[in-house]
Amino acid sequence: MLLVCAGAVGGQTNDVPEVARAKAEVGKLRALVEAGVAPRAQLEKAEEAMADAQDAAILRRTLYGEDLTAEQTDEMMTAASRRFDRRRKALDEAKRLVEAGAASQLSLGAFLEELDRARKEADLAESRASLVRELTEMAQAEEALANKLAEEPAGAPQLADRYDGDGIFTAGTLARVEMAFARQFGKPLPVSANGETAVHRALGFDHRGRVDVAVHPDQPEGVWLRAYLTENRIPYFAFRQAVPGKATGAHIHIGPMSTRLTPGG
Ligand SMILES: [Zn+2]
Repeated sequence: MLLVCAGAVGGQTNDVPEVARAKAEVGKLRALVEAGVAPRAQLEKAEEAMADAQDAAILRRTLYGEDLTAEQTDEMMTAASRRFDRRRKALDEAKRLVEAGAASQLSLGAFLEELDRARKEADLAESRASLVRELTEMAQAEEALANKLAEEPAGAPQLADRYDGDGIFTAGTLARVEMAFARQFGKPLPVSANGETAVHRALGFDHRGRVDVAVHPDQPEGVWLRAYLTENRIPYFAFRQAVPGKATGAHIHIGPMSTRLTPGG
């Protein structure tokens, strides 16, 4: 069972069952078309179904999977938009049949539902992608600071507010921060990255034992959080932007600054 699951995320060589079935169907039809016993249009339809099954597999491991990199996000977005386009095309064809009197108006219902599902999937992909973008911008802000600190260890105050506290941050500390935040604001602490993520790994960044909170340091939640962290001597970095002059990537990083995954690399 585990091997089957691993195959689903493994990429090109290990196809998920739906894709393998669609591929087999294409192979079979290609032979029939070459032998002159099946129409080419039938092969084209099977090829379209195969492409759709491949896109569905991409969405399964990106849209409904965990922990995306920016590249996987692009792959997810294009797969979702191809699936939407195919369903819009199918609806157009079904409408033509209705107009020609070859099908009933009722037959359009299933096509409309499919199109609606694909639109929701594309919306979900878009919102997931924007989360990954935000996460990436936060990680880039930290990368800029880490590079700066490597050049001048005492410097970089223009990139982030730094508070060293007692230098200790553990899972137990996080639980206390979460509880206090929820008590104060009646909603959970908006953690955008707890420990290492695919985005950090892609940047070669060791974010283990660190937590990013998606609040601007100057919004009420951010002001409160900084005061709480200082009061409890918990180390943090407060970022107001990813790159100077660019109003993205603001967040509060709790814990010591991240280090490179491979020293000197
Ligand atoms: Zn961080």
